[in-house]
Amino acid sequence: MRVTTLAGGIGGARFIRGLKAHLAASGQESHITVIGNTGDDIWVHGLRVCPDLDTVMYTLGDGIDTERGWGRRDETFHAKEELQAYGVEPTWFGLGDRDIGTHLVRTASLNAGYPLSDVTRALCARWKPGVELLPMTNDRAETHVIVDSPDVPGNRVAMHFQEWWIKYRASLPAHDFVFIGIENATPAPGVLEAIAEADVIVLPPSNPIVSIGTILAVPGITDALSQTDAPIVGISPIISGAPVRGMADACLTARGIETTALAVGLNYGARNSGGILDGWLVDTSDADAESDLEAAGIGCRAVPLFMTDVPATAAMAEHAIDLAQALRSAG
Ligand code: GDP
Ligand code: CA
Repeated sequence: MRVTTLAGGIGGARFIRGLKAHLAASGQESHITVIGNTGDDIWVHGLRVCPDLDTVMYTLGDGIDTERGWGRRDETFHAKEELQAYGVEPTWFGLGDRDIGTHLVRTASLNAGYPLSDVTRALCARWKPGVELLPMTNDRAETHVIVDSPDVPGNRVAMHFQEWWIKYRASLPAHDFVFIGIENATPAPGVLEAIAEADVIVLPPSNPIVSIGTILAVPGITDALSQTDAPIVGISPIISGAPVRGMADACLTARGIETTALAVGLNYGARNSGGILDGWLVDTSDADAESDLEAAGIGCRAVPLFMTDVPATAAMAEHAIDLAQALRSAG
């Protein structure tokens, strides 16, 4: 079975770890392609950092700091302290010493002219994540947040997503998100093929606006999703009206979307009416959303959606694949 997923960072990576476990336990031959968000990418101190690609690579390659959910295990931050002592900005970005190794290799390869997709494949040769990890695009397309300037009252500014998310902990009210450069971005090699040739497409419980939303904004990707023969099933990142972890509610609010499993599912929309979903998993606590989703043309099941450990996450992935197969045979 060929499974293609889109993914942000932590939510995507943890889900895919469960998906891998489920497919391995099912005994059937399978291939997972992950289309990763690069809108969060940032140049820091001359290094190209790809937080979401690295979170997927480290999580699936068993190099992640499992407590923090991002960055390398057994990390130290001496380089960051030295940079701070020089007073060079940004001081708020968590650049770990081990992690810098990855960024140095990536940056040197990019500077030598290799596209990000080739560089990502080369980095994965070390980590062996057991999936094919593709950046959504090889082009630069950065997520910025429109906020009231923290410095000049009355001014609106576009701030890099990472500055808003990390330095301000998403506390500056966001007016909107813009993906700078996205209109000229093209899907990285293999992305459209992975969507067209999949047996099942799964949207993990990643941030709908700044993880999945960015990927969907790359010209060609949403069209490919609307046209593929594969059933598309998503997993709600919202449980009982709250993001389980992180500040996704601040992103949803900026786009006028309620922080509920129902509203996020309806915002993706049913494929038979211009959206991208055939199916949507909500948590058992949100079972009352089922009838509205079904009425909108989205097949829905309410199952436990907390990724507490790998077996619980593998069970979620099994529900997603089962729902996809049920919808395919029904359609
Ligand atoms: P990021 O790029 O690191 O922010 O990660 P993602 O965009 O891939 O995923 C972040 C989202 O994962 C958050 O907005 C949460 O709503 C969601 N999330 C985190 N843990 C869980 C969980 O245990 N269950 C579900 N359903 N969603 C989760
Ligand atoms: Ca991210």
